Amino acid sequence: STDRLFDAGRTPLDVLKRVYGYDAFRGKQQEVVEHVTAGGDAVVLFPTGAGKSLCFQIPSLCRDGVGIVVSPLIALMRDQVEALKQLGVRAAALNSSLSRDEAIAVMRAVRTGELDLLYVTPERLVTEGFAELIGNARIALFAIDEAHCVSQWGHDFRPEYRALDCLAERYPGVPRIALTATADPHTRDDIIERLSLGTARVFTTSFDRPNISYDIVERDQPRQQLLRFLSRHKDASGIVYCLSRAKVEDTAEWLDKQGIRALPYHAGLDRAVRDAHQDAFLKDENLCLVATVAFGMGIDKPDVRYVAHLDLPGSVEAYYQETGRAGRDGQPSEVWMAYGMADVLQRRRMIDEGDAAEEVKRVERAKLNALLAICETASCRRQAILAHFGEGHPGGCGNCDTCRNPVETWDGTEAAITALAAVYRTGERFGAGHVIDVLMGTVNEKTERFGHVDMPVFGAGKDIAARTWQSVFRQLLAMGLIRIDHTAYGAMKLEPEARAVFRREREVRFRKDRPVSVKAARNQRS
Ligand code: ADP
Ligand code: ZN
Repeated sequence: STDRLFDAGRTPLDVLKRVYGYDAFRGKQQEVVEHVTAGGDAVVLFPTGAGKSLCFQIPSLCRDGVGIVVSPLIALMRDQVEALKQLGVRAAALNSSLSRDEAIAVMRAVRTGELDLLYVTPERLVTEGFAELIGNARIALFAIDEAHCVSQWGHDFRPEYRALDCLAERYPGVPRIALTATADPHTRDDIIERLSLGTARVFTTSFDRPNISYDIVERDQPRQQLLRFLSRHKDASGIVYCLSRAKVEDTAEWLDKQGIRALPYHAGLDRAVRDAHQDAFLKDENLCLVATVAFGMGIDKPDVRYVAHLDLPGSVEAYYQETGRAGRDGQPSEVWMAYGMADVLQRRRMIDEGDAAEEVKRVERAKLNALLAICETASCRRQAILAHFGEGHPGGCGNCDTCRNPVETWDGTEAAITALAAVYRTGERFGAGHVIDVLMGTVNEKTERFGHVDMPVFGAGKDIAARTWQSVFRQLLAMGLIRIDHTAYGAMKLEPEARAVFRREREVRFRKDRPVSVKAARNQRS
């Protein structure tokens, strides 16, 4: 019966209409589909929600044989296979969650050519057994989904993906299509190199998500701030991301007490609980899912109306992916993040204390700084985010916090010099908390013990509020004028670029997070 779906013609457009019930291709889908159907290799870099799945599903249906789809997550496979079956497509998955009998049935279907699409994990694909299985089968194509997993620069490196470079050699003549929503140049080059796709055609499309509104705030009273944000989304579903499992659980419980239906999701919960919470989220129209980054990959819920971050993600790519889960249906959606200096320190510590090679750590630090620069920018957030992906945008999008409420800036050259001098004079050995104590002239055990109370910089920053100094140090970090050294307990150190500020060759402007004190404002004017 299903054969009838495909017999006549089987052109991509036929399949789109008859199998999926859509009228037209979106964006560059058609170009990709035609290229791969004709036997070409492709690298597809489309943002989340652009419709990457059709780019390999339709060529699989148009070409002879079974399309083999490599996918990193069993849950993700299960969802796609279910959706395809409902459309009448003969799809199956081979993974560790199948019983022996189920696996045998799938393998029989592969051998007898009764499958259109087969989903496998990367580790399964490169086994001898699998090679034998598909040895005699006709293969329509290989699709490598979430292809950024092959790259250490990506945010979700999976070593098993590395073995996929064997496909080109083992199956010459079978087209390969790699797909990802991560498009920073590093990751893209790595995908092309690691998967031997040097001659593949690369398809990209704008990463702008115009229906998503961006809002990034300084963390002050995080729970109250979150509650205020959520009050705008009472009858909608959304995701609140936290860094730790403990915080996920605390936040979910607290939100529930505040009368907001919330469920936790993290990898430490029982499988059954996790699945139940995910299913509830997929079905419900007003549920707040509080989650770690373990949640989200491959989730196709079109009406996620908001995504909130209570902690800073690790990179712009991660931020873009996570916020990109909002508004896949194209309807207006809001993303919101609250962050503070503590986040930056925590992230830096995670990088510094990780086992990655020093070279990789350097890239990770640079990625964190790139995100920080977006957080601290006084101009359009959308422009800054797209610039990170190498995409030009004129700015002034009107749909981000800095566009809606233009950020006031102040001439902070003198303040920067004072701050940098305090870092330098105290020996580049202390974190922001202590240096701010020195600037504010706070007499305490530590300022006395180190003899800082006797230094000229002691109390030199009294005219400016302590919280403004915090903002100053965060922005100095984002500007690359200081760095944080975790091998020295989070001490702030001067970067070479700071020299130009000392010499007054470089003007520094800070965004005004809060009104600075009257006295400081007067000083800045003069
Ligand atoms: P991605 O993998 O790029 O994040 P998906 O393949 O999951 O995106 O597609 C996102 C949503 O858009 C899905 O619900 C899909 O059915 C829908 N979609 C994809 N292509 C089209 C199209 N040409 N017309 C209408 N809807 C589409
Ligand atoms: Zn904007």
